Amino acid sequence: MVSSGKRTRGPNKQAPWARSPDDGVSVLRLALDTSDPVQRARIEAMFRAAYAVRRAVQRDARDRARAYRAATHERARGPAAVRERLGLSRTALEHAAYGHLDAAPHLRRFMTKALAMHLADGVWTAIERHLFADARGQRHGMPRVGRWHDFTRLPGRARSHTTANKWETARLCGTLAGHRAAYTDRTGDFVQPRHLRPVHSDAWWSYEGPLAVVFTGLANGALVLPVRLPTAPSNQPIRARRRAAAGLRPVDVIPMGPRNARADGVPLQSYRRDQLSASYRRGRAAQAADAAADAQARRDRARQVAADLVATHGYQLIVEDASIAAWSRSWGRAVAAFSPGLLIAALDREARAVATIAGGGGGGGVVRVATRTTALSQHCPCGARVTKRLAERAHRCPACSLRGDRDAVAAVLASFVVFAAPGQPSSAQVDYIAAADALLAIRRALSNPYCGWQDTLTESTDLSAREGSFLAWSTSTPDPVAVARRTVGMARGPTLDETGLGQTTPDRAPTRTNMAHKYDLLSYFRDTS
Ligand SMILES: [Zn+2]
Repeated sequence: MVSSGKRTRGPNKQAPWARSPDDGVSVLRLALDTSDPVQRARIEAMFRAAYAVRRAVQRDARDRARAYRAATHERARGPAAVRERLGLSRTALEHAAYGHLDAAPHLRRFMTKALAMHLADGVWTAIERHLFADARGQRHGMPRVGRWHDFTRLPGRARSHTTANKWETARLCGTLAGHRAAYTDRTGDFVQPRHLRPVHSDAWWSYEGPLAVVFTGLANGALVLPVRLPTAPSNQPIRARRRAAAGLRPVDVIPMGPRNARADGVPLQSYRRDQLSASYRRGRAAQAADAAADAQARRDRARQVAADLVATHGYQLIVEDASIAAWSRSWGRAVAAFSPGLLIAALDREARAVATIAGGGGGGGVVRVATRTTALSQHCPCGARVTKRLAERAHRCPACSLRGDRDAVAAVLASFVVFAAPGQPSSAQVDYIAAADALLAIRRALSNPYCGWQDTLTESTDLSAREGSFLAWSTSTPDPVAVARRTVGMARGPTLDETGLGQTTPDRAPTRTNMAHKYDLLSYFRDTS
């Protein structure tokens, strides 16, 4: 085989096709009626099948084009032979499409070999632009495998070039006269109903009824989609005339269709100036009022809590400089339910206000300390590092045998924080010498029978007489029958320390009616009461 020089996609060898004015209209855009559910399902399935085949051929073509590019030496000797060997030609891609269709015979219910051929031709056109430069010497990049959402067109030819009376894909059947006759009523108005009448025929070549696009050759019969001809903007004027003739009052019509717009598509009126329905406006106002009430309640609650805290613990407060955004990523809505940022802001405000009145001079407020330099929850006042997972709520120091609530120990440590540079969270350090000196007092302060109990409760943990293990303690409901009413769920006992292997949660979860029956951290922390 002799290569005849470098191949290019140049000007056509034949005279380019041009529409002859005698042929009449050659491009016709027709609206199809797909309201028949059976036919609609079939056309959807046809799109799915065609997409699958085209994607398979696109992948074939891409692999072959890559192999072609990789075969540098062989290509230098004879590029045509390489293309021949790899199957980079229109015919080869068409045969690849047939192969895919043969390998997936279930698709034959929805597509034909002719359609597969036209799909392959489309793929070849793209790959050809990649393989061969045009007259200016430029080539397209490697064609991509198309996405489903971009697949909006079934290519095809209505009739074969070579064989008479042979269809290839979809064809427009029927006549304009037949269509007019079918949809003209007694008064002479041309009215196409919302659902066009189904079209049947035994002989499509001689069919002269209403217009329809017909796709034959499918394994389960022809696909027939009635054509809707463009008419006046709507049938509304005809209906209005009839109502007036019958003495009925005119119907208020909600305007349909696109918004009134300028030539460049910008609407003449902004959406915000649209008149909304009364019930929509009422609903939206109620929603806004609810949201405002929620926000107000949350602010008020934060203010009350802040006032209590400052009254109890003074106006110089220390918080860990934690990222609430990171908490939100971990815990989602549960964080918003407690609004920690709002609470800290309220605390700061309250502490400053109290400091001003009390005349503290040194100033009050909330001071932030970096978590990295202090690690309050991972240390003991004696200075030893006691690592704990988040689920471990109790602090047990192996060095000094201090036992206490995790959060209480961390809070005690926070009171020993000193700053190398005031106002800089990252300069905070715990003064362990001072803390160790105070260890005896700390031990006394932390001695608490409720050690390890969750501070943040997801339900009432009021002791009840029915919980036999706690009968030794005084309860608020000593009567053996009247038990404390729980706010939610049916847990058998209060939330206990969840350290070690004997965690109570897996046992608790199934008894909580409003929680998933599988233990997962997120739903455990989410307060659904
Ligand atoms: Zn210790």
